[in-house]
Amino acid sequence: MITKDEIHNILQHYDLEKVSIGTICSHSALQIFYGAKQEGFRTVGICLPEKKFVYDAFPLAKPNEYILVNRYSDLTDSGVQEKLTRMNTIIIPHGSFVEYVGADNIKNRFHVPMYGNRTSLEFEGDRSKMRMWLQEAGVKVPKEYSEPANIDRPCIVKFHGARGGRGFFIANSEEHYKQQLERALKRGVITDEDVDKATIQELVIGVRYYPQYFYSPIFRGEVKAGEGRVELLGIDRRVESNVDDLYRIPRFEEAGVEQSYVITGNIPVVLRESLLPKILDLGRRIVDASVKLFPPGIVGPFCIETICTDELEFVTFEVSARIVAGTNLYPEGSPYSCYLYPKPMSTGRRIAYEIREGISKNKLQYLVS
Ligand code: ATP
Repeated sequence: MITKDEIHNILQHYDLEKVSIGTICSHSALQIFYGAKQEGFRTVGICLPEKKFVYDAFPLAKPNEYILVNRYSDLTDSGVQEKLTRMNTIIIPHGSFVEYVGADNIKNRFHVPMYGNRTSLEFEGDRSKMRMWLQEAGVKVPKEYSEPANIDRPCIVKFHGARGGRGFFIANSEEHYKQQLERALKRGVITDEDVDKATIQELVIGVRYYPQYFYSPIFRGEVKAGEGRVELLGIDRRVESNVDDLYRIPRFEEAGVEQSYVITGNIPVVLRESLLPKILDLGRRIVDASVKLFPPGIVGPFCIETICTDELEFVTFEVSARIVAGTNLYPEGSPYSCYLYPKPMSTGRRIAYEIREGISKNKLQYLVS
């Protein structure tokens, strides 16, 4: 694992007046570049040649510089890394960044300073570590079952990997589980290998809210967390195919239609104001637990996936330890960020603002790894 000392050593050679903000051209890159430009940074996009036109199509958000690569994994090539460090680049990791470059490559072979805490990748990418994190935070999590024989209520069965929600199914008994599993295998949406790594989790009944937070170790504020404060920058929910539109197909099961949970987009939501104390408390707890488990904790943006029951209790089943695509809803700020900042504040801009403050307060070393 690349050490913090090594990164800080590289940072010592940076010209902090000329820092560039960089990321892979995908996921939330438009928002990241746009926000960085609003805060006066130069931007650099690592891009596949065939994707460049997408970013050129949005002049206010396109990066100032491109580094064209044939594969995103080329990011670990020494030539690419040298170009980035020569431009005094701080890389902003997003979901596609982690997926395309690979968590191990980032941890062991990517020597460019990255915003946030690299160790969080370990906790995010490993379901058992993530559960440990949620439990340490003392938040309510869905019950999990190690054996299908123990299923005693409706459960969601989830598989790992890039298929992202295809093949997930619901089962309410061992027998039902076996039937559903067989169908999924027959349809080819999962393989035998997937079965061992399946998570069987209580199906939480309620409505989904995915709050987007930001943890700053260098700002102080009302919602104290870790060394600094946690901010609620927005809330979204995912639009998942086909489960979110299944109501349009009466008796879909009889029609031979299988549900799936493939993310296709996000929609904005706001919460009843009386639920805000719970949501802020969740963010605070997740940060405090992260500081304990992998100091300095979950620096920067993160999101949790929660379900609010009809008893107004939030059950949390996932943490994303980085900027999430749902923040793309709010490039000019959200119904929450507008009460925090007198200027339009997206998560992308908030990252740049934090880096700017880190530079001016001589605290950049607390923000990158
Ligand atoms: P990603 O890595 O993209 O977040 P994933 O493969 O880890 O996806 P989850 O996010 O855990 O999968 O689940 C996908 C979807 O399944 C959720 O957005 C939600 O709609 C539904 N879901 C997951 N867990 C539960 C649960 N315990 N109860 C009810 N619905 C759930």
